[in-house]
Amino acid sequence: MKIKAIFLLFVVLLLIAAPMNVATAYKAGNDKWFSVHIPVQVSYSSMPSGWHNAITKAMDSWSYAGANFSFENYSGAYLFYVNIKQGQLSDYETLATESGSHGILYSDGKRQKWGSNITVNSQRSFSTYGASNTHDIESVILHELGHSLCLGDINSPTTSVMYRSLSIEQMKRVLTQDDIDGIKAIYG
Ligand SMILES: [Zn+2]
Repeated sequence: MKIKAIFLLFVVLLLIAAPMNVATAYKAGNDKWFSVHIPVQVSYSSMPSGWHNAITKAMDSWSYAGANFSFENYSGAYLFYVNIKQGQLSDYETLATESGSHGILYSDGKRQKWGSNITVNSQRSFSTYGASNTHDIESVILHELGHSLCLGDINSPTTSVMYRSLSIEQMKRVLTQDDIDGIKAIYG
């Protein structure tokens, strides 16, 4: 009798646990931007003029993902913003990096992000139209903006924008459901 009861309890626990077993691959940090309007400053003088449109499209992809924030072009004097530029990186293997070097505010126990730098590696070749032997700049910026928003690299699914690497000539310009789930988990 007692064994039956324990078994029944086990089955009930299994049933409760089952719906929570849905795999979520996205990796969200503890940080988030303290403003729902996130200004983006692009150093266009540091990069080919054709990148302008690609960067705007990458910003829009995240802004219209259905989460409660939006990227906005900025040319004024904000204290907090995402800066995107092309520059020298020490690691040739790296396509681009994101760093939150403007700092993190702490308030009410929540880590509040208020700055992010994206640097596209000037030692690597990029293209806006899939030219051979180049990387797709829109796909790269889309991925790095995901880091700016406090999403992490993931190992699977490989189709995700936040997958940890991008092959040469590969285009990943559309957010997957996993990317969208991740950003909604942070910003609602
Ligand atoms: Zn990454």
